[in-house]
Amino acid sequence: MEAILEVKDLKKYYKESKAVDGLSFNLYKGEILGFLGPNGAGKSTTINILSTILKHDDGEIKFFDREMKDNAKWIKQQLGIVPQELAIFEEISAYKNVEFFTSLYGISGKNLKNAVLEALKMVGLEDKKDSKPITFSGGMKRRLNIACAIAHKPKILILDEPTVGIDPQSRNHILESIKKLRDNGTTIIYTTHYMEEVEEIADRVVIMDKGTKIAEGTIMQLMESYKNTRIYKISIDISKRQEFKYDFLYEIEGIQKVELNENCLSVTTIKEIENLDKIILSLVHRNIKISHMTSEEGNLEMVFLKLTGRKLRD
Ligand code: ADP
Ligand code: MG
Repeated sequence: MEAILEVKDLKKYYKESKAVDGLSFNLYKGEILGFLGPNGAGKSTTINILSTILKHDDGEIKFFDREMKDNAKWIKQQLGIVPQELAIFEEISAYKNVEFFTSLYGISGKNLKNAVLEALKMVGLEDKKDSKPITFSGGMKRRLNIACAIAHKPKILILDEPTVGIDPQSRNHILESIKKLRDNGTTIIYTTHYMEEVEEIADRVVIMDKGTKIAEGTIMQLMESYKNTRIYKISIDISKRQEFKYDFLYEIEGIQKVELNENCLSVTTIKEIENLDKIILSLVHRNIKISHMTSEEGNLEMVFLKLTGRKLRD
């Protein structure tokens, strides 16, 4: 695998916080690298440093084997950046927006026109090319923002939480467009705090927390120790009980962990062992009313929880 970006021991400190604190990772040609972490993990700070918008305090960054500090101008031309905050002009047409950003890369004439139309098509806005973003939904604005970042055909596309607060249809559209771009040869860093998105599109994942990497690998690798795990979430009625003890559940074969949060029992069990009937029976025998139950298999949330003791999203 060819590393087209190498980050070593990156640091960015603010007075109040260590936003990035010794982060190292590689980006390999042709992959979608999912950059997963809770709010405040340091994702945007890292992305802004890689985009050359922000200066870092320490560490090494090499794009295509070239030191960033000596080649910033050339590197910028290889990148497409979709920042966390929208960066579009509301009062000029979608077409003119993409045209403006693309022309900054020195593209002009017929090439420019083709590039703009192709980018608008990629995000599904070709029919809206003459409309102004002020009339768009949040999701359409996001898609336009992506079109602005891809029309010059960057080798590396970096997206910072592009699906926050948008409708499911636009979200799916964005994820599909990103996969299509990857299949056409673009290498992608996709930042998010939604583990479902990472599970859906990433070839590899860097999990970040408190400014540093806490895990890295393919989704299969990260979930290796969870592939045999299932969690039952059982809502029970314990409102009348002072204290509810659940030790008796550990007597059932296969059960690894039981936790109670408010009125929800989380029972972690080995997937292969069929013990759901026993779990339910032992609750019913103790006159515990079950109001709801769901079942989850191993996911990245569990990986994060195990590594940090916290949930990805509170
Ligand atoms: P994320 O994108 O993962 O949510 P950020 O990179 O935005 O995280 O922030 C990481 C940490 O750095 C947070 O604690 C945030 O408050 C802090 N931070 C980010 N930018 C600044 C800044 N300009 N000044 C001071 N602190 C900052
Ligand atoms: Mg952010």
